[in-house]
Amino acid sequence: MNDAALKLSNVKRSFRQGRVELEVLRGVDLAIRPGEIVALVGPSGTGKSTLLQISGLLEKPTSGEVLIAGTSAGTLSDDKRTALRRLHLGFVYQYHHLLPEFSALENVVLPQMIAGTGKGEAAKRATRLLEGMGLADRIKHRPAELSGGEQQRVAICRALANSPRLLLADEPTGNLDPHTSDHVFAAFLRLVREEGLAALIATHNPDLAARMDRTVSLSEGRLRESVPAE
Ligand code: ADP
Ligand code: MG
Repeated sequence: MNDAALKLSNVKRSFRQGRVELEVLRGVDLAIRPGEIVALVGPSGTGKSTLLQISGLLEKPTSGEVLIAGTSAGTLSDDKRTALRRLHLGFVYQYHHLLPEFSALENVVLPQMIAGTGKGEAAKRATRLLEGMGLADRIKHRPAELSGGEQQRVAICRALANSPRLLLADEPTGNLDPHTSDHVFAAFLRLVREEGLAALIATHNPDLAARMDRTVSLSEGRLRESVPAE
């Protein structure tokens, strides 16, 4: 049970762009303890999204090892990788990707039912999550009837619906105006801490990064631990 929620060892990823091989990740090492919330910072185009996709088993590294809760993903069959992802991982993106024809509640209930949870229990958890995000009076609304901040709050609840161990978030409030971003992010962090989740959260915003347990910075294909200024 002391396994890291996420462990990356010497992860490399390159992309062929025309004739050149672009080395985006050049040997990334990272370990995130259970319950630890880590900010991922770095200039645009340095590979933050690539690193999150690889950590989330949505893309494969060119070489190196990815362990989720102690299980090495590299040698697994596609089915087993998918199962590991469903069991342990939650995702939040810059855009909410909610299903437009379903209510907020249904958007949080459906992934639980796909995972085999009964409807009643799924609805109970969804309601609790949505209430925790300040959406008690919005659960019957469809995405188009919600503000941008509310849509993103629903997307966060959906990511937590199946009680993942590790949450991967790619600029989760990057689409929101600064004031809304601040509020949504505070609610997001509170919920992640309440649920005891580990998280890796890419952000451009140093104020948001400062609220997490620690910051790692991606630059020239490698991760550095950022030591906060005194
Ligand atoms: P960030 O999220 O930090 O802005 P990305 O991970 O999106 O960075 O991209 C890092 C670099 O990798 C960019 O130069 C991008 O063009 C390149 N890249 C990302 N995905 C692909 C892909 N599927 N094919 C080719 N190049 C890619
Ligand atoms: Mg990105």
